[in-house]
Amino acid sequence: MHPALEQVDWEREGAAVVELLAALLRFDTTNPPGDEAEAVAFLADTLRQAGVEPEVLSPVPGRANLVARLAGGDGAEAPLLLNGHVDVVAAEAGRWRHPPFAGEVHDGELWGRGAVDMKSMVAMSVATVGLLTRLGVPLRRDLKLAVVADEEAGCAAGSAWLVDHHPDKVRAGHALGEVGGATFYLGGRPFYPIQVAEKGIAWLRASATGATGHGSIPREDNAVVRLSEFLARVGRRRLPLHASPEVRRFLEALTELQGRAGRAALPLLLHPRWSSLVLRRGVRDPGMARLLSAVLRNTASPTVVHAGAKVNVIPGRAEAELDGRIAVGSSEAELLAELRSLAGPDIELELLGPSRPPTVTPPGDPLFDLLAGVVADHHPGAVAVPTVTPGFTDAKFWSQLGTACYGFAPIRLEPSDPDFAAMFHGDDERVPVAGLKAGLRMLADAVARHCC
Ligand SMILES: [Zn+2]
Repeated sequence: MHPALEQVDWEREGAAVVELLAALLRFDTTNPPGDEAEAVAFLADTLRQAGVEPEVLSPVPGRANLVARLAGGDGAEAPLLLNGHVDVVAAEAGRWRHPPFAGEVHDGELWGRGAVDMKSMVAMSVATVGLLTRLGVPLRRDLKLAVVADEEAGCAAGSAWLVDHHPDKVRAGHALGEVGGATFYLGGRPFYPIQVAEKGIAWLRASATGATGHGSIPREDNAVVRLSEFLARVGRRRLPLHASPEVRRFLEALTELQGRAGRAALPLLLHPRWSSLVLRRGVRDPGMARLLSAVLRNTASPTVVHAGAKVNVIPGRAEAELDGRIAVGSSEAELLAELRSLAGPDIELELLGPSRPPTVTPPGDPLFDLLAGVVADHHPGAVAVPTVTPGFTDAKFWSQLGTACYGFAPIRLEPSDPDFAAMFHGDDERVPVAGLKAGLRMLADAVARHCC
């Protein structure tokens, strides 16, 4: 633990962060519509009580973002940004064992939508900023905080808006946010994924045209049939591998954690000839196989289909929307070229809007080693693994300002704790109270080591 934090009463700080998160979980910030303003006002009050003067920045009524800055140093060292989003995805209360917006503790776990994704990080970040302020520890760089709205619906009222309208308030050398920092176990060995890269996005429309006619006389140049054939090819075939240095690093770190069989199999994931076989046979968990397959290549999931209006009329046009994702190391142009090779002459492909490139924090950055040191010191035997995520986070926008982003929202989990990954957007979302308290110590220590 950093010397500045050695005298801290962690029992008290831990109890306070549990209470803070419980209160935050009671605000229903389901997005859409979000309605984050009340939750953000509550956090602003909490910070003021600790002596911090935050700013609330609101793009539209009902939506709000909170930024704060603890000044440190003479500007020579780049600021650190702590980031969390306060909006959550919908919860179907009838499917939960405890109500999703009550913030109740049951059997040592704090329940609520957002306990994992990601009000826990928001609470720990607010607690850390408050703690450093109360302690009056001098900082050698600025520590910034951004609690944002609208991450679950694309960030337009949150990080994207802040980057466009208030870039100076959120500009930083590094950011800590989603996704990572919670313990995983592989063959009994604990590790902490830390996100170093995320894929890009290119949402697409595919359209097919064909001859119209009466439904009673089938024809092969039916637009619905042409589109369906294309969608089936996209859904069943894997696009080519893109083995970026970040993906190699991720696989190498996973390989280190494996037993003998895994050590032999995992490197073959990067081999065009063997990759599919290893994904099918060599990776036991099908969810893990899907995740690895997604980070290794460009992907496009068909998600929306439109065609026809009447059962006995063959329509002249059929359209689908595809959620395209650009592999780290690849590009929009490569994704389009790969999809066109599956499309044939009857299918037209176009972007639904501007694409966003992958986000990458290059290796060799001392902050990654600092975080790995925090992991090892707080959880003996655990290692940090640099991960690549197929999804996207607020890091997409911070990185536009030149910020190097890490997914580090630490929660210490035991092997007996429920499947953490399944609780992102899942039912019965909850966080172990002990794990949250340990997470606060890890986050505060990481911030102190970097900033004090
Ligand atoms: Zn999230």
